Amino acid sequence: MGIGDVGEFGLIGMISGQFKAPEGVTGIGDDCAVIPQRDGSDTLVSTDMLIEGTHFILDDIGPRDLGWKSAAVNLSDIAAMGGRPTGTFLSMALPKGTSTEWVSGFIEGYRDISDRFGVPLLGGDTTASPDRVCVNVTVIGECPHGQARTRSGAMAGDLVCVTGTLGDSAAGLRLILDGRRGIPCAGYLMDRHHAPLPRIDEGIALAASDGVHAMMDISDGIGSDIRHILSASGCGAAVDLSLIPMSDQLRECCGITGWDAAEIAVTGGEDYELLFTVSPRQEPFLTVAHTVIGKITSEPGLVWKGSDRDLCGFRHF
Ligand code: ADP
Ligand code: MG
Repeated sequence: MGIGDVGEFGLIGMISGQFKAPEGVTGIGDDCAVIPQRDGSDTLVSTDMLIEGTHFILDDIGPRDLGWKSAAVNLSDIAAMGGRPTGTFLSMALPKGTSTEWVSGFIEGYRDISDRFGVPLLGGDTTASPDRVCVNVTVIGECPHGQARTRSGAMAGDLVCVTGTLGDSAAGLRLILDGRRGIPCAGYLMDRHHAPLPRIDEGIALAASDGVHAMMDISDGIGSDIRHILSASGCGAAVDLSLIPMSDQLRECCGITGWDAAEIAVTGGEDYELLFTVSPRQEPFLTVAHTVIGKITSEPGLVWKGSDRDLCGFRHF
């Protein structure tokens, strides 16, 4: 049997089965590890790798955007817990033929997002790669002890909410792959794909809000990501497809291309928006802009509602 047969999560299970997090430490399975410190704070750590050919096509993404995105996807995991990022580490494996212009562009993009969120680069590693670019970023963050929101806190009756709009990034990627960069809304959608904005301030505000029980960032698409909250929390959800927030640009793009906007919004990845659950009593008091899309149920399973279309295509969720 090959690793293709067990899949990404089977593989992670093979690893996590051999290790146990120390008492009080949140280890494998959430957006970040959460490590309590003696001073009453919690340290958050996450790491993410981007490989040429798997996560990006070198000809399709400029070095600045790749630099920005490498940090952004990691900062998003700190946002997912409601933490404040305090530093990053950048490791790069580069083929010998990589130009210094490319490296300068990458560093500029990485510096721009670091400056934007006030997060210093504290170290890393640099090495040669036989043929492909590989970038690995580790991010460290902090929050008051016990304030990090995990995937496991959802409670029956909670409202399911998301920040921002979904599907823009996936549509941007599809436009790039289909060679349709010229359509009117392409610039906005491709920018959402290449230079996502991690929801740091929103995550901090949500983690400080009463009634917010579970939180994660949407990196693989809400259709599969929400299942992590449901399985970690031991509950189910009913989500109304008609409530999934979509941008005017996504709708316009789908009007032109004939693509199914709802399907892209649900199955498309790399939104880096926050998905969270909140008690219905506290939801009206949230200060972070969000959309309620459904409800947590005590019965396990995920039910999609509110679509007049055949939902068979969504059953594999
Ligand atoms: P995210 O999409 O939020 O970055 P992943 O789906 O990549 O999260 O990972 C899920 C969980 O599995 C995380 O807690 C991550 O730290 C852990 N994980 C992934 N790969 C490994 C590995 N090779 N060794 C240990 N833990 C891992
Ligand atoms: Mg994540």
